[in-house]
Amino acid sequence: MSFLDDLGQKIGDFGEYAGAFCRSAAVKTEDQISAAKLRSAIRTQERILSGTYENIGRRYCEQKAEENDPAFSEDLEKIRSAKEEIRRLGEELSALVRTKRCPNCGHENAASAKFCSSCGCSLQDTEKSGNGHTPENTAEESDFVQDDEQDT
Ligand SMILES: [Zn+2]
Repeated sequence: MSFLDDLGQKIGDFGEYAGAFCRSAAVKTEDQISAAKLRSAIRTQERILSGTYENIGRRYCEQKAEENDPAFSEDLEKIRSAKEEIRRLGEELSALVRTKRCPNCGHENAASAKFCSSCGCSLQDTEKSGNGHTPENTAEESDFVQDDEQDT
């Protein structure tokens, strides 16, 4: 019977070990949750910091652009060319995904949209050079507009 006794002892030891392991795991999990909360709180404050720095930078740049400050001419030129590139890429994207950019607010609408879903401006005169054929409103395009509206 010594083998069975031994086995019983081993199972008992394992039970104790498992219990201790679970208790330490529970403590560990609580610590991990607290750590995750702290990391998230730190990230929130970091976002506030970088957002505020960005705002200060933007306002400062606008002021420097008005003053035509030569010390900032290189950075201001970078901003100008980045804005121009964003506009050009946006036009390329519009052509690719067949969206209609609102002439009033710049919002991307489905190609079949008659009015801007953002500002309500009429989009009907923007493509007068077309063949007069109105493209069918596909389900995909409707989804796209809905997703867009949820974002704003
Ligand atoms: Zn618009």
